[in-house]
Amino acid sequence: MNGGGVVERPERVRALGLLSGGLDSTLAARLLMEQGIEVECVNFHTGFCIQSHTGAMRNPKPGAPPPRHDALHAASNLGVRLHLVDIAEDYVRIVTDPKHGYGKHLNPCLDCKVFMVHKAFEMARTMGFHFLFTGEVLGQRPMSQRRDTFPVIDRESGAAGWLLRPLTALRLPETEPEKLGWVDRSRLMGFSGRNRKPQMALAARLGIREYPSPAGGCCFLTDENYARKLRDLWSFRGSRAYAMEDILLLKAGRHLRPAPHFKLVIGRDDAENHFLTGFVDGRLRIRARDLPGSITLVEGTPSADDLTLACRLAARFGKGRELPEVAMVIDSGGQSEVRVVTPMAVHEIREEWYI
Ligand code: SF4
Repeated sequence: MNGGGVVERPERVRALGLLSGGLDSTLAARLLMEQGIEVECVNFHTGFCIQSHTGAMRNPKPGAPPPRHDALHAASNLGVRLHLVDIAEDYVRIVTDPKHGYGKHLNPCLDCKVFMVHKAFEMARTMGFHFLFTGEVLGQRPMSQRRDTFPVIDRESGAAGWLLRPLTALRLPETEPEKLGWVDRSRLMGFSGRNRKPQMALAARLGIREYPSPAGGCCFLTDENYARKLRDLWSFRGSRAYAMEDILLLKAGRHLRPAPHFKLVIGRDDAENHFLTGFVDGRLRIRARDLPGSITLVEGTPSADDLTLACRLAARFGKGRELPEVAMVIDSGGQSEVRVVTPMAVHEIREEWYI
C-alpha cells in the first residue's frame, strides 16, 4: 500500500475490512473471500454504538432473541478474525467539532467515516494488509455515501486508491488492487441507492441467511431522542465536552430537567435500575424506602425545594404512584434523608421537563 515502485502480486492477497456486522459489510467481505482473498476485519467502538450497551442492558422483550454483538456474530459466521478496537477517546473531537458538520441529528457521519478509514488504513499498513475495504454503497446514506463524499473520505483518510468498496465498485474508478490484478473487478458489484433487494438477492446466492435488520441503526448519534439529551447536556454545561460516563448515562432511563440547574434520570425497569446504580458517585440517588422499584439519579445543584419536587417525581414513576404518600430516601455520599411526599399527579408534570 506504499504506492511507489513496481508492485508484485503477493502470494496471498490480504485485505482488512470495516465490519459493522450488518448485511453490507458482511457481503463485501464474502465477495472478496470468494476470490480467494484473505480477509480480516475491524470493528470500532466509539462509545455511541447502540448494540454495545442498550441491547444488553434493557430487559429483553418476551420472545425477543438474546442480545448479541453483530460484528462478532458476523465475523464468526464468515470465519474471519475480527479486531475490536476502542477509539472512544479520540472520537470525542469528531463528535464535538466535526469539520464537515452534522447530519440530521448529532451524527458527524462524514468525519466519522474519514476517521475510521484513517484508523483502519494505519492498522492495515502496520499489519501487512494489501488494501482496505468497506461495505459502503453509493447513494445509500445521505451524508457519507455519496458520489461527492467518497473522494473526501478517500483523500482525507489518506487511503485514496487503496480503499475498495466491493458492493458498489463498478460505479467507481478502479482502485489500485483492481489495477494490479489482485482483485477481479468483474466479480465485484455495482449496487447503488437505498433499495436493499440486490443485497438480499446476493446474500441468498452466497448462502448468507442471518443478518440484522438495516433499520436497527449503528449508533446513537443518529437517534433523535439521544441527540436531544446530548444537546441538553452540552447546553447546560456550557461546553460540548463529555466523558464516557456522560454518554453512557444518556442511554438509560427517563430524563427530565425541571429547572436549568438540575436533572433527573429515572430507571424504567429492573435492568436500568441496576445500571443506574453504577453511576451514583457524584450524584444524589432517590429511592422509595418501603417499596421495590425505580432508582432516580439527580445531577446538578438542586435546592431543598427542588429535592422535594424530585422525590415527588420519583414517586410518580415508582410502584407507589397510586398511594397518597410515599417515603422517599435521598442518598448522598453515605448520608441518607427520608422525605414523605405525595406522588406528583400526571397533570403537574410539565411537558417541557422531558428531555
Ligand atoms: S451513523 Fe454513527 S457510526 Fe455510522 S457513520 Fe454516522 S456517526 Fe459514524
